[in-house]
Amino acid sequence: MLCRFFVLLGLIAFTGAAHAANWGYDGAHGPDHWAELSGDNAICASGRFQSPFNIVPDIEADMAALDIHYGSRPVEVTNNGHTLVTAGGPEDHVGIGGVDWKLLQFHFHTPSEYMIDGQSFPMEVHFVHQAADGRLAVIGAMIAEGPANPAIAELWNVAPYDHDVTNGGAALISLRDLLPDNQEYMRFMGSLTTSPCTEGINWHMLMTPITASAEQIAAFRSVFPNNARPIQPRNGRLVVAEH
Ligand SMILES: [Zn+2]
Repeated sequence: MLCRFFVLLGLIAFTGAAHAANWGYDGAHGPDHWAELSGDNAICASGRFQSPFNIVPDIEADMAALDIHYGSRPVEVTNNGHTLVTAGGPEDHVGIGGVDWKLLQFHFHTPSEYMIDGQSFPMEVHFVHQAADGRLAVIGAMIAEGPANPAIAELWNVAPYDHDVTNGGAALISLRDLLPDNQEYMRFMGSLTTSPCTEGINWHMLMTPITASAEQIAAFRSVFPNNARPIQPRNGRLVVAEH
């Protein structure tokens, strides 16, 4: 199921070289230069509440459980040149503290962007949601190396190797397979981890990682060797952990 990623590495090298007009993860278009690429990105350098950072909980509190409702359905996977991204379906939403957040999309990073207590992970998945008033909330889950993930298997099976291409699959994918059973989380404010680094994002980082196999991680890295923004200053932000 991973053959398309592995067989077509030669093509990836060519298409990767052609995709350099915008922001990226190294060289003149890398994270240190995002703020210079456009006036819209200034907060990437000037922001005080940028993501990712090293998450160390400050306090524990009773917090609303994440009431996650993600469906099972065939999905499309887009290679947008920065990551693999899948759009949320109309039935995918999460309730947090009385607010309903619709799932816009989810996508992957390698290595993990955040650290938890100084620990990095091979990959990280971000579920990006929006409330009716326009606010954004992201649920993040770390991905450790371990047993293969069945949802990732299906996603990688249809994932396009060319940039700006979307492939659809017929197989049912259960998005719940991308979440741990234990959904206790840490809550904090942050930003988009990609240009334009917009702040005011409500972050919820799950404490328990999911797993992907070494082969699944290697397959993603064969297309995106490093698509993680480096750690940013925490600047005194409060991190509240569920207890
Ligand atoms: Zn992300």
